[in-house]
Amino acid sequence: MGVLRRMAAGGAVAMSLVALSGCGGSSETTHRGAIPLVSTSDLPAAQPGDVHLFGINDLHGNLEPPEASNGQVGEYTAGGAAYLATHLQRLRAAYPDSAVVSAGDNIGASPLVSSLFHDEPTIGYLNQIGVAASAVGNHELDHGVVELGRLRAGGCALDGCSPGEPFTGTHFDFLAANLTDSRGEPPAGVRPWTMLTIGGHKIGVVGVVTPDTVNLVFPEGIRGYTFGEEAEAINKYVPAMKQAGAETVVALVHDGGAQGTPAKTTDYNGCADISPDVPALAAHTDPAVRVLLTGHSHQAYNCEFDGKVVTQASSYGRLITDVTLRFDHGKVSAHAVNRVATRDVAPDPAVDKSIAFFSGQAAPRAQRVVGTATAPLTRSDRGGGESPLGAVIADAMLDVTHDSAQAVAAFMNPGGVRADIGPGPITYGSIYETQPFGNQVVTVTLTGRQILDLLEQQWDNKSKPAVLSVAGISYSYDDKAAPGHKVIADSVRIGDRPVNPVATYRVTTNNFLASGGDGFAVFTRGTDTAVGPTDLDALETYLRDRGAVGPPEERVQRR
Ligand SMILES: [Zn+2]
Repeated sequence: MGVLRRMAAGGAVAMSLVALSGCGGSSETTHRGAIPLVSTSDLPAAQPGDVHLFGINDLHGNLEPPEASNGQVGEYTAGGAAYLATHLQRLRAAYPDSAVVSAGDNIGASPLVSSLFHDEPTIGYLNQIGVAASAVGNHELDHGVVELGRLRAGGCALDGCSPGEPFTGTHFDFLAANLTDSRGEPPAGVRPWTMLTIGGHKIGVVGVVTPDTVNLVFPEGIRGYTFGEEAEAINKYVPAMKQAGAETVVALVHDGGAQGTPAKTTDYNGCADISPDVPALAAHTDPAVRVLLTGHSHQAYNCEFDGKVVTQASSYGRLITDVTLRFDHGKVSAHAVNRVATRDVAPDPAVDKSIAFFSGQAAPRAQRVVGTATAPLTRSDRGGGESPLGAVIADAMLDVTHDSAQAVAAFMNPGGVRADIGPGPITYGSIYETQPFGNQVVTVTLTGRQILDLLEQQWDNKSKPAVLSVAGISYSYDDKAAPGHKVIADSVRIGDRPVNPVATYRVTTNNFLASGGDGFAVFTRGTDTAVGPTDLDALETYLRDRGAVGPPEERVQRR
């Protein structure tokens, strides 16, 4: 299925479903009018025999209410684990024959309150809200299959135990039918499917994870495992689920698409101009599969194709997909509603208490000083398009791969630098805010010609050139020159020498750009890929080793 790679580092594909207000209640304005709020007040009465599933996806450890556009569904403010818990309690009270399920990326690329403690606080939360099964998301594999097994089973991380109660692992199964080793087996702690018995009905629940995971996580962490085609993997296990008594099958799919409508008018319960991979997934799965709860693209949609429901609940706990399964003499029908997890309900006190505990524990760790800035390190363009902070990050990426991967230059995308660093002591919390995605540093071999092509690709985006911050390379460009000729060819130097088009160079970037993010397709033609530590670890090491860092010299000149 299609993948929004931008998520890897471009961050927040934050849906901004800013609805336009309807004017004056005229029925003529329904098309452009406000999108109505569907939440958990006024829930329809439970119908005897119905089973409900409450689906979430891509929580990404957002225990505290997410900010700005990450905490909006259109005009409605939403998200925050304690509010989400209250909405789920309301749903459970209205529909006792029910279960909570997740389509993955519960953890990873998460705020400090969770990530500092190996996302154990989020696992504890998922247990608290009664998650019964979750797909493996690519981010569940950020730290490899062994760490995922620990998160399932409990126990301390390699670098020590987290504060608070001993960590006992998930109370639910991680599902990934398409993640297998050479014998066709999943890693420890992962199963292809599980059976939920709800209201006397047996429901087979199967999970799959995007095959693009190979490009999104540390290769070392998934060594020996392959990611199969999703529909094929789902279908493979349908007979076994039926044999075990499943009356219907629900798929938790960590992959997804998007509606094609402008964000401002997108209905979170709509299916307008949906990307073709969404109906394709429905078409390719076995008829026994009635519901596909998807994720990964952080989008909201609610589609139906030939009696199959395919949905996604945005991200960060802003929406809950409320699925109704109706059983009628062996026939099962499904219907879904995306409900907004608004913040106008009382937050769940038990959830609030555990978040407060971990944020108290996180504070001193976030305040740990990792270096000093001799002047502000900002994300802002300083004339040529690159930024001082982007250049420092590129320096850090080059530094960490210079010896280990023979890198001679590094490239950093402007959109991946998420916060400025002020002058004075630099805290771990501040560098985390700058580099919150948990991206890995990747080194590839490119020819000099490919590097020149890469620089020209900065102008491929017509609205605004994406000038990369660089290290180990310098050049000048002429904005007004014809496309493909912006970079002044004999100005490009790598190290202290002019670039040689036929020579090869080891260049470093993050896994977002390395996989062609922001349209930099040249990186995907790189060879001899070497994956290094996370960008955050590289930056911390660099700042600690240097002691004091100021804005580096300008490396990109606009003529
Ligand atoms: Zn994902």
